[in-house]
Amino acid sequence: MALNSVGKKLFWGIAVPALAVAVAGVGVYWRKADLAVRDAMREEASALAELVSITFTLTEHKNPETAIRGVHRAVQEAVRADARKLRYVKDLRIIDRHGVVRWSRRVEEEGKLHPGAARLLAMGPETVSTLEADSWTGTAGTEVVRRLGGMACAGCHMGETTMKVGVLQLTIDEPALRQNVMSVFLDALAGVLLLSAALAGATALSLRFFLTRPLGRLADAMRRAEEGDFLARAEVHSRDELGALAEAFNRMLARLTSMKAEEIDTHRDLALAHEQLSLKKALEESNTKLEGRLTELGTLYDVARSLTSTLELPELLSRITTIVPERLRIPKFSIMLVNSEGRLEVKSAHPKGKGTEGITFAIGEGACGRAAESHKPVQIADVAVETAEFKTRPGAGPRGKGALLSVPMVHGGALLGVLNFERPDTVGFDREEVDFLTTVADQAAMAVKNAQLHQTTVELSLTDPLTGVPNRRHLFSRLELEIARANRFGTQLSMLMVDIDHFKRLNDAAGHRAGDAVLREVCAVLKQMVRKVDTLARYGGEEFVLILPQVTKAEALEVAEKLRRAVEEAPNEHARFQPEGKITISLGVANLPVDAVEQDRLVDCADSALYASKRAGRNKATGYAAGMELHPGRERGPHAQKRVKTGELPQAASGPKSG
Ligand code: GH3
Ligand code: MG
Ligand code: MG
Repeated sequence: MALNSVGKKLFWGIAVPALAVAVAGVGVYWRKADLAVRDAMREEASALAELVSITFTLTEHKNPETAIRGVHRAVQEAVRADARKLRYVKDLRIIDRHGVVRWSRRVEEEGKLHPGAARLLAMGPETVSTLEADSWTGTAGTEVVRRLGGMACAGCHMGETTMKVGVLQLTIDEPALRQNVMSVFLDALAGVLLLSAALAGATALSLRFFLTRPLGRLADAMRRAEEGDFLARAEVHSRDELGALAEAFNRMLARLTSMKAEEIDTHRDLALAHEQLSLKKALEESNTKLEGRLTELGTLYDVARSLTSTLELPELLSRITTIVPERLRIPKFSIMLVNSEGRLEVKSAHPKGKGTEGITFAIGEGACGRAAESHKPVQIADVAVETAEFKTRPGAGPRGKGALLSVPMVHGGALLGVLNFERPDTVGFDREEVDFLTTVADQAAMAVKNAQLHQTTVELSLTDPLTGVPNRRHLFSRLELEIARANRFGTQLSMLMVDIDHFKRLNDAAGHRAGDAVLREVCAVLKQMVRKVDTLARYGGEEFVLILPQVTKAEALEVAEKLRRAVEEAPNEHARFQPEGKITISLGVANLPVDAVEQDRLVDCADSALYASKRAGRNKATGYAAGMELHPGRERGPHAQKRVKTGELPQAASGPKSG
């Protein structure tokens, strides 16, 4: 039987031992009662035996004939008459010393010889023993054998051995008595069992109603709570310990419910906090991106503003090289432009003084060459690995580790140059950086293009388009500079004024296009004859001026003569149109400070000397001499000088005409 309830356990734990104790108690008392019955029977039997035996002696001292008989009879009748009285007495015999039954409860035995007389006669004065079965009648029970004799018997048993007249044998049916006692105890046992059963039933019912069912209900409530039903409550039906337990459980559940509610609240708060945190994080990320974008835009604005604030190309290149590493935190930077040979030439680099300026790359060579070729940014993760060819360049210096990004400067589809960004880590430039630096390169390209256009414009404004040498405007700015320098350093400066002889005639004869060609050819001859430091400019018409810094008047005259000869000797297809079949020039030489100490005067002196050469017959070189300017035939004076200063073209035809 499965003991799966406290009630059953308690029931079997109490009922079985109680029943065992009750049965054992009944058994013990039954045993004690049995012994008591036996002892009482023996005492009763002994007393009865004594009583009966005494009746045989009572008359000895009083009236032997009547009294004896009377007492004997009374006792005998009493013992024999009513079977129900002394019903436990089975046998009562008086046996004489010969073994003959002298008196018995059973009358038919009287006068007969008792078969077990010898055993009885051999016994002591009074023997009480348990008899299994009488050898004569088969009676079982407690046997009392009492010897009869002594002085009390002498009255009737004269002459006999009064000490041993016979014996009285009394047998009591002990089992019958015991049976009575036994039935009493069996009744008692039945009563105990009945009581036990009643008690057990009552206990079981009590346990069921007061323990098992409330416990079951409590367990059920607990199970529902365990399954998550925090609103389940145990029923409270009593104020006992179980009721208190149920109440305590309900309080615990209520606490759990509020804790659960708190937990749900906490979870919700946590989730909210998480959401807010992630939102905050996203906001921070957006802010960081925005800040980065703003910084980029700010940098781009600064770069653009800085780059567009100058039109001078060298100044611009210097600014790019300063602002890009500084604002963009690029440790190594260089700017390359496409040079006249179509190669990429490093024009400016950061850090300065590393000797990288002037290095050239062919289009398609190296990262910069590839960027120039493809018009797209080219990146190298580690220049130490991939730009071995760069190491061989003079002044390239040691190449450390680092990432290189070459971004082409393209304007209107034309390549202007390349920007090279380099930094020591080999992580490389990410997509956003490449995009940003491409924008920077576009800005730089625009600025470079503007500067180049400006430079071209300036060059054009200072250059004579026909001959390609500096024009009059350029001549006077150079002259001013050179005079200032000569004055400052106390050096000399000579000026040569050149005029083609009979040029009008050539124009007239060969046409103006031929005249233009002769102008260019004479200019080329002059150009190749002078030093780099000298300035050859077209003064106007068919007149040229040469400024020779640090040259004395004598040296200048030598140069003039050399030039005259060179032009005269230079073959020219149009020479045939000239008077002597050759192109010739006349020259005038003036010196600072020998002939003049300021610009206008120096020009006038050279001019006067030139006309002196014309007067002398042309194809001559003449040094200025005092008074030459006073020679008539050419416009002189403050009016002419004013025009010279303002760069206005003087009247080419104002000079003396050759004859
Ligand atoms: P002289 O020997 O006295 O200097 O005589 P000339 O003919 O050279 O002098 P003149 O000043 O009379 O003539 C100068 C001529 O040069 C007049 C003009 O037609 C011509 N001339 C001036 N500028 C140019 C030019 O750019 N191209 C051409 N083809 N001719 C020019
Ligand atoms: Mg001339
Ligand atoms: Mg002239």
